[in-house]
Amino acid sequence: MDQELRAFAEAARGFMPPDEGLALHEAALGVPAGGSPMLEIGSYCGKSAVYLGDAARQRSTILYALDHHRGSEENQAGWEWHEPDLVDPAVGKMDTLPLFRRTVHDAGLEGTVVALVGDSIPVATHWATPLSLLFIDGGHGAEPAHADFEHWTPKVEPGGLLVIHDVFPDPADGGRPPYEIYCRALESGRFVEERAVGSLRVLRRTDAV
Ligand code: SAH
Ligand code: MG
Repeated sequence: MDQELRAFAEAARGFMPPDEGLALHEAALGVPAGGSPMLEIGSYCGKSAVYLGDAARQRSTILYALDHHRGSEENQAGWEWHEPDLVDPAVGKMDTLPLFRRTVHDAGLEGTVVALVGDSIPVATHWATPLSLLFIDGGHGAEPAHADFEHWTPKVEPGGLLVIHDVFPDPADGGRPPYEIYCRALESGRFVEERAVGSLRVLRRTDAV
């Protein structure tokens, strides 16, 4: 990754330590050139989209960045991960879309990163395009995390990558649902683990559709 863009990504607002961001970038560089698009669930202010988007650009494909931009449960007022300046006062709800757009613009990735603004599951229900890489970093509650797993992982093409963030084997380090869906992926026999960096897990789909 270019030094300047790497510094930009590290400074971008969001929840991804530099070593995990670089691992995400490296994983995404492994997709076939000119192949199927990548998709991330959970973009927030665009930090992970810079890592994935730069790799997508280098591999001549695109990244769909899916988020309703209203924040997860844990981003709402009164919760641990709330950032009050991200609330749109006119609506009284969070709105991370303006910051996301600025991040993608400033990273020079507007030709590669395509925002999908909406709720994950209705989009998945109508989604037919195979994915070279799926990054799951959306709602971390039990219901949304398992729903994302069930609706989106079948879209990963054979040989494609499934990357999950915030996987904490020790409950003392964080919430269970991302770890649970990581276990489900391995137990399904459809995915094998390729790499673990911090709370990031890179899995590859090994079965045929
Ligand atoms: N990947 C980001 C962090 C994502 S935070 C980074 O690198 O910084 C989780 C995001 O998931 C939030 O922006 C929230 O709005 C989004 N989200 C949660 N549930 C969602 C759902 N059901 N559909 C779409 N987006 C959702
Ligand atoms: Mg995360």
